[in-house]
Amino acid sequence: MKIFVSSDMEGTAGVVDWSQCRPGQPEYEYCRTLLQEEVNAAIEGAMAGGAGAFLVNDSHSTMANLRPDRLAGRARYLSGRHKPLYMMQGLDASFDGVFFVSYHGSMSSEHATLSHTYNPVAISEVRLNGGVAGESGINALVALGHGVPVLLITGDETTTAEMTPFCPDAVGAAVKSSVSRFAADSLHPEQARETIRAAARRAVEGLGAARLPQIALPATLTVRMRNADLAEMATWVSGVEAVPGDPVSVRITDEDPVRLYRTFITVVLLTRGIAE
Ligand SMILES: [Zn+2]
Repeated sequence: MKIFVSSDMEGTAGVVDWSQCRPGQPEYEYCRTLLQEEVNAAIEGAMAGGAGAFLVNDSHSTMANLRPDRLAGRARYLSGRHKPLYMMQGLDASFDGVFFVSYHGSMSSEHATLSHTYNPVAISEVRLNGGVAGESGINALVALGHGVPVLLITGDETTTAEMTPFCPDAVGAAVKSSVSRFAADSLHPEQARETIRAAARRAVEGLGAARLPQIALPATLTVRMRNADLAEMATWVSGVEAVPGDPVSVRITDEDPVRLYRTFITVVLLTRGIAE
């Protein structure tokens, strides 16, 4: 059994501030060890449930936050920037399940530590087929495209709940309860790891009953940008259209979920240039 792990950082127990997630900042070196142990807990739990092969796609910031020699399960490690499929790079139909580890809530969610949807200075909300989607829902498009179920999500309570409409069978491991965007009540790291380990095991043991992401195709992403300039720039990308009567929103509709994700990623990368 082969598991694809997409790891972020903001959803780690104890992490509540951007400075803790930014390479070069003093707290970062400590917090990356907390992240590493949560990724390992997910792998160890999956191994206990019968999984034997892992690819970890590091998806946070410079995408080089983990120590490859300290990864559990002899996992392969996909790291570094400029990946065409970004947080989902490396996934293909040979995998049996997807894990989202240390994910965070969407920009428009309530009580979500370090909430954002890809780019906090450019995007204020994303809806997928009308429902608010975080990175988990958006990334589930790629899982759907490859025919692989999402089995596990770890992060705060808001993040795990946000996954449910799109992946109702994914097991949620909540390691903190957010008080605000910059405050959370976290489990002790050892307790957080135990929670993740147990959830990961349960997730792979339930693989047989796990459905693919429940996202109707063709699917539509409606992206509300933070200002009209950003929305106008987004329409430079082929397949992205303005929303009539709403100068800050654009939408993308596609029957191919992976192509839809790629178009969205192109908008994220392009608008980075004028986001402030
Ligand atoms: Zn991140």
